[in-house]
Amino acid sequence: MNVEDRLFLNRFNADDRSHLKVIDPEVCLKCKRKQCSPSCPSKCYTIQDGKAVVAYEGCLECGTCRIVCNEFFNIGWKYPRGGFGVSFKFG
Ligand code: SF4
Ligand code: SF4
Repeated sequence: MNVEDRLFLNRFNADDRSHLKVIDPEVCLKCKRKQCSPSCPSKCYTIQDGKAVVAYEGCLECGTCRIVCNEFFNIGWKYPRGGFGVSFKFG
């Protein structure tokens, strides 16, 4: 089973409030690499007009985006509230 097939098995119970936040989208304009977007395995980040936009619903809670935004520290990251977020199924 490849990675895409495994990811497809995951289930999400999305909260109505985001656990991820681009703290100041204006700061993204200074960020040349935009590394949040290619680094996210779930493709949660898109770049629009030079600013990162995050769609939290498909987040795998891996923490990669928080680590790679290491020039401007512009991502506010926390786990979803209890009962929400991803459920991993490795079968
Ligand atoms: S890596 Fe950080 S600063 Fe750069 S585009 Fe993404 S959120 Fe913005
Ligand atoms: S925690 Fe992982 S899956 Fe969630 S948005 Fe960040 S990089 Fe993507």
